Amino acid sequence: MEPKKVTLKSLEKIIEEIKEGSESSIGNYLFKGFRIQVSKYKSSGTERYMRLYKSRREQGLCVRCGIKVTDKNTKTGKLYRLCEHHRETTDRKQR
Ligand SMILES: [Zn+2]
Repeated sequence: MEPKKVTLKSLEKIIEEIKEGSESSIGNYLFKGFRIQVSKYKSSGTERYMRLYKSRREQGLCVRCGIKVTDKNTKTGKLYRLCEHHRETTDRKQR
């Protein structure tokens, strides 16, 4: 993952988030040529997966592959959580 360039102000905000133990502080940042990585020490694979799942869900991306989902569920009016490809493969497995 490419680090995100940050200003001193946003770096301070990230530090505030760390103080609060907020997981929104997690990421890769670039400040004056320094790469700052904030990650959770010894977090389990499940936790990492859940975080990825959550962020992809929030951005309307397929939770499996991260492709932008454009189709909406006609029943709920919400975007599908999977792309067309993964929706098909998952549905097939369930049957
Ligand atoms: Zn997918």
